[in-house]
Amino acid sequence: MQEEKLTFGVSTHDIASCNICYAHNYDSKLGNEIGERVEKLYELKISGQVLTLCDKCLDRFREKLAQRISAEEKPEAYNGQIVLFTGTEFTATDKLGQSYRYRMIGAEVTRDGLIRLLNLDTGFLTYVEPAWFRERKIKVIQKEAREA
Ligand SMILES: [Zn+2]
Repeated sequence: MQEEKLTFGVSTHDIASCNICYAHNYDSKLGNEIGERVEKLYELKISGQVLTLCDKCLDRFREKLAQRISAEEKPEAYNGQIVLFTGTEFTATDKLGQSYRYRMIGAEVTRDGLIRLLNLDTGFLTYVEPAWFRERKIKVIQKEAREA
């Protein structure tokens, strides 16, 4: 059986220290150790490389990962949160690169939360789901209908 290349667990070494802040799991006889004394250290193994981390540094590592992940997801989340008012005109470009111009007519209060749009290029009225906006690149032309 091939050895797992990525493992994570509590360090089983009697003498170990955190790779980042030098926190150690043993009592120093000399008392001149850098880093604080901790009970538990963790080991992250990646293809033979071993990273030893204390609780604090593990938390920081986790935070950095979460920040990175949320930064990657942001464009889509922003697109999903786009607020369209009645009368907003926008262009929607689909995955095939086809672009149409729409005007928001209103949101239907239905179980599915359908949104009513007027396709200004074809003149057809259409109903779309919220997911429709996430699947397209939306560019707002004007925020609101101007007061007459
Ligand atoms: Zn540490």
